[in-house]
Amino acid sequence: MTTAIEQLRTTLAALSLTAIDARLEGLLENAAKKEPSYGDFLLEVMNTEADARRQRYLKARLQLAHLPYVKTFDQFDFSFQPSIDERQIRELRTLRFVHEASNVILLGPPGVGKTHLAVSLAETAIQSGNGAYFMTAHDLVTDLGRAYREGRLDRRMRVYIAPKVLIIDEMGYLPLDDLGATIFFQLVSARYERGSIILTSNKSYGEWGSIFGDPIIATAILDRLLHHSTTINIRGESYRLKERRKAGLIPLPEQQQEQPAVMAHRSRNKREQLP
Ligand code: ADP
Ligand code: MG
Repeated sequence: MTTAIEQLRTTLAALSLTAIDARLEGLLENAAKKEPSYGDFLLEVMNTEADARRQRYLKARLQLAHLPYVKTFDQFDFSFQPSIDERQIRELRTLRFVHEASNVILLGPPGVGKTHLAVSLAETAIQSGNGAYFMTAHDLVTDLGRAYREGRLDRRMRVYIAPKVLIIDEMGYLPLDDLGATIFFQLVSARYERGSIILTSNKSYGEWGSIFGDPIIATAILDRLLHHSTTINIRGESYRLKERRKAGLIPLPEQQQEQPAVMAHRSRNKREQLP
């Protein structure tokens, strides 16, 4: 004769309730010990499955997002980067920008944490059930350029339009050709007021003309990108350098070397207000 537990296992398997099945003994033992109400017991059983499904779903979303690494805000040392306004970060973490389809632009020299923060924001958005997709600007334009030459640009474009959050990393490290600039403009226009873009760049807005080789298209792109947006301008030292310096591989910066760097950043900021 089959026992109730055996029948239960068969039913759980038939309904693919794998998490309840895996934790069945623990759940029953716990109930025998704590004697919860029928309602509480049923709730615990159902939550076991619901939580496991949610975890599976988030894991799949995270994999689909194609992030280069997973890092969170908790792993970010804000005291190392005092130019970052933590209030601004707190506001972004509410994900209001995702609901409003507005953009986040992280600017700054290499190693200051632009990608780390972009990834942390993407991770937060995914945890709240939003789709996200990460791509470097170069890979994105290469991919769409190939699709254009093969006559399937519209279809391929959908991959980058569909997610609620698109992360475009390292804009400006390499200049774009005419086709790249046109494709980029199309993408930004298609997402405008529909989905958020999180973009990182080592170039200030004033330098964007040189990325696109054409100040008119650069202005048109910036116009749409910045209309609803938050800019985080990180002016600081590279975290990677700090780590190497700690290891004694690089000498400490000298006072005289610091001075012109600060000046350069200030004048760059002025230009950023006039994209
Ligand atoms: P960027 O994209 O600005 O060039 P990254 O975000 O890739 O720089 O940062 C370089 C490395 O240093 C990454 O491993 C990142 O996690 C780490 N990092 C940068 N800034 C910080 C910080 N303030 N606290 C902790 N880790 C940081
Ligand atoms: Mg980066």
